Amino acid sequence: MEISQAQPEEENMAATQITTHKNYIGGQWVDSVTGRTYQVHNPARTHEVVGEFQTSGADDAMLAVAAAREGLAVWANTPAPARAGIIYKALEIMGRRADEMAQTVTIEEGKPIGDSSGEVKRAMNIMEYAAGEGRRMFGYTTPSELPNTVAYTVRRPLGVVGIITPWNFPLAIPAWKIAPALICGNALVFKPASATPLSAVKLIEIFEEAGLPAGVLNLVTGPGGQVGNALVESTDVKAISFTGSTEVGTELYAESAKRLKKVQAEMGGKNAVIVLADADMDKAMGGIVQGAFGSTGQRCTATSRVIVEDGVYDQFMAELINRTGKLTVGDGIDPSTDVSPLASQNQKDKVMEYIGIGAEEGANLVFGGRALAGGDYDQGYYVEPTIFTDVSPDMRIAKEEIFGPVLTVFKAKDLKEAIDISNSVEFGLSSSVYTKDITKAYEYINTVETGMVHVNASTLGGEVHLPFGGLNSSGVGQREQGTAMVDFFSEVITVYIDHAAEATERARFI
Ligand code: NDP
Repeated sequence: MEISQAQPEEENMAATQITTHKNYIGGQWVDSVTGRTYQVHNPARTHEVVGEFQTSGADDAMLAVAAAREGLAVWANTPAPARAGIIYKALEIMGRRADEMAQTVTIEEGKPIGDSSGEVKRAMNIMEYAAGEGRRMFGYTTPSELPNTVAYTVRRPLGVVGIITPWNFPLAIPAWKIAPALICGNALVFKPASATPLSAVKLIEIFEEAGLPAGVLNLVTGPGGQVGNALVESTDVKAISFTGSTEVGTELYAESAKRLKKVQAEMGGKNAVIVLADADMDKAMGGIVQGAFGSTGQRCTATSRVIVEDGVYDQFMAELINRTGKLTVGDGIDPSTDVSPLASQNQKDKVMEYIGIGAEEGANLVFGGRALAGGDYDQGYYVEPTIFTDVSPDMRIAKEEIFGPVLTVFKAKDLKEAIDISNSVEFGLSSSVYTKDITKAYEYINTVETGMVHVNASTLGGEVHLPFGGLNSSGVGQREQGTAMVDFFSEVITVYIDHAAEATERARFI
C-alpha cells in the first residue's frame, strides 16, 4: 500500500493498465475538485500499481457533506426494516464477490490471503448483524408519574456522520462502522485511509448495486489532514466514528469536542498475554504466535507483550523460538505464507527503528530482528518475526505501539506482578491470561485494565454481536458493534403524550 504521486502518462510505462478510481458523491462517481490523483502500490511487489485514486481536499469533503444532507432526508424517513433490506442485499453481493474482495485486501494491505478472507467474513457478519437491528430498533415504554399520560422513547438518526478509517483492516473496519450507521438512518461521508482506498471503492460499489439511495453513502479519498479534518470542522457533520492512531484520534476528539460533536475513537494497543505456570502450554503457544505474528503484527489487538511466570519461563521460551522459526515469510497472496510484508516503507522503517531501540535499551534480541533481503524479498517490505527478552516495563519497546511483528517477553514471579506489568502501559485494548485456575482467572478478569479480556485465548479479534473497544489511550466514546452500535449511531428522544380529555393540574419540577 505504498503511496506515490501519479506520474504523467508518458512517463509511466504501465499507465494504460492502471484504473483511476473516483470519489462517490450524491450517487455519482466524480473526479476531485483538486484534479489531482495518487497511486497505491502492492506492498509485496512494490512495482505493481494497485490503482490510482483521487487526492481530494476540503472542498470535495464539503460537496459530499452537502450530498449527504440530501440523502439524509430520504434515508431517515425510510423505515428501519426497509433500510435493513438494502443491507441484506449488499451482504448477498459481498458474498458473491468474497474472493475478489479478499484478494483486494491482500494486494493493497499485504496481509495473508487467509486473513483477508477472514476479514471479508467479518465484514459480512457485521452487515448481517446490523441489518437484523432494523427490526430491533427498540425504545422503551414506561408508566408516567402523571394520569392520562403515555411516556416512551424512540431512536432517531444523528444526521450526517463522518466515517474515518485506518489501513490495517481496509474492509472490515469500514463495514463495522457503515452498516450500523446506515441501519440507524444516518447519511455518511466515508474517508478511508489513503493507503487502502480500493477496498473502500469496492464496498461502495456493493452498496450502490444494492440500491442505496443517492447521497446516503459518499466516498471521498485523500489526505486525512484535509478531507478528514474538514469533516471534523464541519458543523453539518453531527458525529465522527474514527479508528486509527492515538495521536490522530486524540486531536480529532479535542477538535470535535469544541463543536459538541459526538465521537467514538478506537485507537492503538499494546496488548499483553500472561502465561501462568499451570497453563496449557500448547494452547498458549498457538494463541501467542498467531497473536504476535499473524497479519504481521499490524492488528490493533495483536499480542505485543508476553508475561511468563518464572517457573515455566525457560520451557516457554524454547518452544516459542521453535514455533516462530517455523513461520514462512512471503507474499500474502501465496496461501502458504504465515507472515507477509509490512504495509508500507513507513511501517518497515518504524519497525526497524524500534528493533534498534530495543537493542539500545538493553533488551535481548533472541530471534529475528532483520529486514529480509534477496530474491522476492527485495520487492516488498519484509521484516523477520522478532522476539526480545529481558524487557523491563520502562523500556520504550515495552510501552509504545510498534505495530509490527515484534514480541517483547517479560518474566514475573506471580500473577500479581504479571498483572502490574500488563497494566503498566497507557493503552487498554485487549488482554489475555492462560491458566487452568478459575480463581486466578477471575482475579485477572477483575483487575486487568483493558476493554476486552480473554482467558485461554489469544488477544485477537472479537465477535460482532459483542461490544468492541478499549480503555484509556485505546478508546474513547461509545463501543462499536454489539448492541452498543445503535447507541452510538442514534439519538434517544423521550416522548410524553397527555391524552386526558380535559386540562388537569400537573406539577412540573424541571
Ligand atoms: P492514522 O491515525 O494515521 O489514520 C487513521 C485515519 O485518520 C486515516 O484515514 C487518516 O487519513 C485519517 N487522518 C489522519 N490525519 C487526520 C486528521 N488530522 N483529521 C482527520 N483524519 C485524519 O492511523 P493508521 O491509518 O496508521 O492506522 C493504524 C492505527 O490504527 C494503529 O494505531 C492501530 O492500533 C489503530 N487501530 C485501532 C483499532 C481499534 O479498534 N482500537 C483497530 C485497527 C487499528 P490518511 O490515511 O489520509 O492519513
